Amino acid sequence: MKALQSVRGMHDILPADIAAWQWLERRLSRLMARYGFEEIRIPLVEKTELFTRAIGQGTDVVEKEMYAFDDRNGDSLCLRPEGTAGVVRAALQHGLLNPPGLKLWYAGPMFRHERPQKGRQRQFHQTGVEVFGLDAPAVDAELIALGSRLWRELGIAEHIELEINSLGDRDDRQRYRQALLAYLGPLRDQLDDDSRRRLESNPLRIFDSKAPATQALLKAAPRLIDHLGEGARAHFTAVTELLDAQGIRYRINPGLVRGLDYYCRTVFEWTTRSLGAQGTVCAGGRYDDLVEVQGGKPTPGIGFAMGMERLLELVKGQNGRFENPPHAYLLGSEPASERLGLAEALRDRWPELRLVTDLQGGSFKAQFKRADRSGARLALVLGDQEMADRTISVKDLKGDAPQASVAQDSMDDWLRTFFDDDRRGHGK
Ligand code: ATP
Ligand code: MG
Repeated sequence: MKALQSVRGMHDILPADIAAWQWLERRLSRLMARYGFEEIRIPLVEKTELFTRAIGQGTDVVEKEMYAFDDRNGDSLCLRPEGTAGVVRAALQHGLLNPPGLKLWYAGPMFRHERPQKGRQRQFHQTGVEVFGLDAPAVDAELIALGSRLWRELGIAEHIELEINSLGDRDDRQRYRQALLAYLGPLRDQLDDDSRRRLESNPLRIFDSKAPATQALLKAAPRLIDHLGEGARAHFTAVTELLDAQGIRYRINPGLVRGLDYYCRTVFEWTTRSLGAQGTVCAGGRYDDLVEVQGGKPTPGIGFAMGMERLLELVKGQNGRFENPPHAYLLGSEPASERLGLAEALRDRWPELRLVTDLQGGSFKAQFKRADRSGARLALVLGDQEMADRTISVKDLKGDAPQASVAQDSMDDWLRTFFDDDRRGHGK
């Protein structure tokens, strides 16, 4: 029978790639704690209505990309295409929004039925943050500072640029909508099909269009940023001043509207030229109306999400940083019980030791071959002689240090020195 393949656009993450994922995940969770964020884990599946309400009709995600299905009860459910709607639902459902100032982060797979290509998958992973109940510009600025710090600490800051814009408040967008329609109406025949449809349903979304002809027309269109009311304008100015004060560079991009309807006021994207066409690594903004749309009391909110696959692609340039090969490979002669016993004793006392025990036995030659293949630095040999002497022979598999014979009783001292040298050598 023919072996089955994974679903198109949904990928396995193989052991060879896991070290990089875990390296990044560890850094992210540490960073979140440093800014006072707490993790939340929400279901992969929600009611479809949650996303249609939050993300909005006329968006790419709702119109074309949702994995929605009827379950056995006939309820319409959906694999989550993004995290914010579910986090808002959970915060409301569990009464987390009081007092103001809730800071949450999440990580995990998201699902969108898009055309798979480089940097675009149907199952992909996001890590995101959300802040609720605070409307001060300082909140926007601190979130951006968090991103900026992350790129610096990952060593990719020079490849990433910040674009920001303001989408104003609801009334501002309403006024702007009229101005945009007045401009685009007479040009409707020159628009791509999606955009022509969106003239009626959701004109702002026309800025999402990837059609070059449409984008060319938009160059001369009226700009939302010129239609901001006083509140939104003051907020935006304050955010940019805070960024200036922190030395965070940005470019104001009046065409940046973001692909989801719930945004208002500040929106931003971190982009790179190093990944080809899919260059947005992280994106977000304010969503002061979303909690109300989801049935809660009016509560400001702001957040962003980063695409883990794209981020890892950027970090990959710095190979070798995240590999986690075993420290040691324990091999020897029969009986295996001697090896297993020694290995367990070492694991009792050295929780950080990455130790692989040879479980197949056989000739030393075969065992050394497996030790090499494991990538371990050291081979620990427990042969007949060593068992008789209660010693272990230690062989350096990576360098040319002479083989050492260590009394089993002194193994702790020996490992202490090994880890001290290791830390000094690697500056960890
Ligand atoms: P795009 O314009 O690239 O479709 P988007 O506006 O749909 O992006 P968001 O919903 O803002 O993307 O998601 C935030 C981040 O998640 C993106 O910047 C990107 O890094 C990542 N992302 C989104 N969709 C995908 C996907 N299909 N495959 C891989 N990563 C994705
Ligand atoms: Mg998209």
